[in-house]
Amino acid sequence: MNDKHPPKELCEPMFDGGLYVFLMRLTEPQTVQVGALGLFDFAAGWYLYTGCAKKGLAKRVERHWSLKQTLRWHIDYLASAPSSEPVGAIVIPSSAGLSECYLNQMIGQKFAGQIPAPGFGASDCRQGCPAHLCFSPTPVSLLAIARVHLDAAVLIPKAGIWEPPLHRL
Ligand SMILES: [Zn+2]
Repeated sequence: MNDKHPPKELCEPMFDGGLYVFLMRLTEPQTVQVGALGLFDFAAGWYLYTGCAKKGLAKRVERHWSLKQTLRWHIDYLASAPSSEPVGAIVIPSSAGLSECYLNQMIGQKFAGQIPAPGFGASDCRQGCPAHLCFSPTPVSLLAIARVHLDAAVLIPKAGIWEPPLHRL
């Protein structure tokens, strides 16, 4: 701790807008109809989905690991699959000035980046990402993902808390 980052900061609410990488696991292979995008076979393993929320970031991310009445985003279809388990997410504030597509491409490069469903989550993408979902057959940890950016914080399902960036502790 130092004067610049007093302890009270740990109790402040999470920033409202920014980017996130949602990490989930399929414990069994699964064939999933992803809305209008099509029917895809998803192997067992780890899936990383990169998205952004201009506001309500925590709510958006928490939505990915809750039961949904309506399937709105492509990730909703995969996250609702019977063998799907949320691991958690990392979040990066808008103030970091990172673009969603840049983060997505960085994640793809660092974590195997197999593309199981071309176009997945990339309907609005203008940066030529093959998809905003990538797959790794080997385990990926949240901490490893958080290392992609100094301002990255970690959100864990049902914990109701967020871990501030490690460099601020
Ligand atoms: Zn993109």
